Amino acid sequence: MISIDGGYLEGGGQIVRTALALSSLTQQPFEAENIRKGRPNPGLKAQHLSCIRAFEELAGAKSQYATLASDKLQFFPAPVKGRTMSIDIGTAGSVTLLLQSLLMPAIFADSKVRLKITGGTDVPWSPPADYFANVLLPHLSNFCEKIEFKLLRRGYYPKGGGKAELIVKPKYRLSDFGSFNEFRAYLNEAAPKISLSSQNALAYVKGVSHASADLQKFEVAERQARSAKSLLELPNVSIRSEYSESFSPGSGIVLWAVFSDNDEVSAENPVILGADALGEKGKRAEKVGAEAANRLLKQIGSKAPVDSYLADQLLPFMALTGKGSIAASEITDHARTNIYLIEKFLGKCFRFDEARRIISLS
Ligand code: ATP
Repeated sequence: MISIDGGYLEGGGQIVRTALALSSLTQQPFEAENIRKGRPNPGLKAQHLSCIRAFEELAGAKSQYATLASDKLQFFPAPVKGRTMSIDIGTAGSVTLLLQSLLMPAIFADSKVRLKITGGTDVPWSPPADYFANVLLPHLSNFCEKIEFKLLRRGYYPKGGGKAELIVKPKYRLSDFGSFNEFRAYLNEAAPKISLSSQNALAYVKGVSHASADLQKFEVAERQARSAKSLLELPNVSIRSEYSESFSPGSGIVLWAVFSDNDEVSAENPVILGADALGEKGKRAEKVGAEAANRLLKQIGSKAPVDSYLADQLLPFMALTGKGSIAASEITDHARTNIYLIEKFLGKCFRFDEARRIISLS
């Protein structure tokens, strides 16, 4: 059984989520200790438990010690099978963080997987729904026949209640192979390589500025968008403003910059940098827009084709492709922690060039 130190470096919930994903894919059980030791409220939270329950229900996996605040976990995987499943995380637990666990096994399942998830769609410390859909997913679309993310209702902190649906039609199926190692050897030959080395030319910036319907009278979404646009001072910026009914009031803005090479946006290795900000009670809408714009300008200014969040989210997929390399605006502790974990399941496979912030497969 693979032993994992849940307190390693970042010491957050991502260690549990990535371990569940890789355990499910490689069919290797694991035991983790010191779970979320790096956080003020250590141990498993509802959000992490919902990931474990989802694997139990979706695949028939088994676990031990999976209770609230537990600092250890044993997990015995079973292959994820294509099916439709509804998951309610409860309150504002992040929908996209749940998908951080389920996405990879779903992409390599035996047939179509459809997940209907209820929880937080735009909540702190997690990828907002529009980031997930417009920054992460375009990088993974070549790994499957079809991948579609539908945001049905926004869920803000604290009540959540947002709804989203993920539909994945697999292209590479683990079940077609006798073992994970055979599958990995096949992916090394057949899967698209993740290769992102330079930004090239900025083609356009898009964005979504959103708020709950009760904030429409204050024009929160439009004000966030106007403030972001005026700070960006770039050509081809279009930011959509929208309002929707939600359980808790809230707002946010997600921006993404798309780059092209010789006027063409690569379908296989798109360069898309994302940045976002969330509204809070007492925080002016103009400040929210400005925060997101400044974050995006920082990512663009880094000259790197991968933003600081995308790097850790792409690494598990990259590790399966044999070759590939990404240059990130920053190598975060989340990225280093994910490498620790990936190598626990797949063996040593990454190489760093610290000075140029490049992570490659060795
Ligand atoms: P914990 O439960 O321990 O408090 P967590 O479960 O929220 O932590 P982390 O270990 O902190 O999870 O991982 C958060 C994940 O969300 C990382 O993959 C990170 O890249 C991603 N993320 C966080 N904030 C953003 C953001 N603003 N935009 C995009 N991705 C984000």
